[in-house]
Amino acid sequence: MEKIKITKSETSKSKPTTDQLEFGRVFTDHMFIMDYSTEKGWHDPRIIPYQPLTLDPASIIFHYGQTVFEGLKAYLTPDEKVKLFRPEKNMKRLNRSNDRLCIPAIDETLALEAITTLVGLDKDWVPSAEGTSLYIRPFVIATEPYLGVAPSQNYQFIIILSPVGAYYKEGINPVKIAVENKFVRAVSGGTGEAKTAGNYASSLKAQELVADKGYAQVLWLDGVEKKYVEEVGSMNVFFKIDGEVITPALNGSILEGVTRSSVIDLLKHWNYPVSERRISMEEVFEAAKNGKLEEAFGSGTAAVISPIGELSWHGKNIEVNGGRTGKVAKQLYTTLTGIQTGKQADPFNWTIN
Ligand code: PMP
Repeated sequence: MEKIKITKSETSKSKPTTDQLEFGRVFTDHMFIMDYSTEKGWHDPRIIPYQPLTLDPASIIFHYGQTVFEGLKAYLTPDEKVKLFRPEKNMKRLNRSNDRLCIPAIDETLALEAITTLVGLDKDWVPSAEGTSLYIRPFVIATEPYLGVAPSQNYQFIIILSPVGAYYKEGINPVKIAVENKFVRAVSGGTGEAKTAGNYASSLKAQELVADKGYAQVLWLDGVEKKYVEEVGSMNVFFKIDGEVITPALNGSILEGVTRSSVIDLLKHWNYPVSERRISMEEVFEAAKNGKLEEAFGSGTAAVISPIGELSWHGKNIEVNGGRTGKVAKQLYTTLTGIQTGKQADPFNWTIN
């Protein structure tokens, strides 16, 4: 494994105060970068002062979107140690996304070392207030200047860090969700299970339209029949119906969330009946009508758990759990954030220092 070369920044930027923290607007003093060429493979892993990139305008990334990314967080523990939550799962997913986009695989051990070294160097940027963290954004871009539609011969793998504020400033809050009946996020056989930019660019329109009507996110249905639930915004989704917790099975168009898999493991550990299966909007509305829809919530790195208080579908509205956060959502949120920040025991060994 090639050694990571470090060039330290001579100055340090001023850090945001707790109330200035937003999501993804401020970046730390350093970044990681590594190049790929067909002759040399992945090479020259290095940490350098945070700076703009210089790219040829013909670079494939700008034209055909050959790119993938990841998102994970580092948390400060009460005794000032920095913890990462299941980062090896993000690195595995990065390589699954790479494979789907014809990008050469990255050594996962090196990628993990790049993250820990970079976070270690910018440790002072990990915010300490309740609910805050350091967001880690690894990504790969195709840099060959070429307008043919073909996999690039050159890439850069980059990692940047951003201190982020608490997702819930006044405690965990249920949101209003609109079921999307026109636009779809992904289809089986497409790129939905990869974390690639195009999926997010194509989701903006639906999100913009519902935001105008006062909804926080859209709930995506399957791209073929527009019947079955897939995801909510950029989160996986769970329903508790008559005691059973159900999440859509991974079918090729759903992103396999690290939080999703941790939620499933925790629920099993607590002996809740959990199913990964197809679930239709029909079934959700029927359950609501019969008083059996007990909870609904999204799961993802950004919010961890995001309770759904109201669902709108074809002009009909249902309130979930009286618009309040349910017991399971609360228990999952407390436990996951407790493990992530080292305030609670980590029986699964999910965090690393
Ligand atoms: N679905 C989509 C489309 C996402 O972008 C994300 C965020 N990565 C998730 C689900 C949740 O995944 P994770 O729990 O790994 O953050």
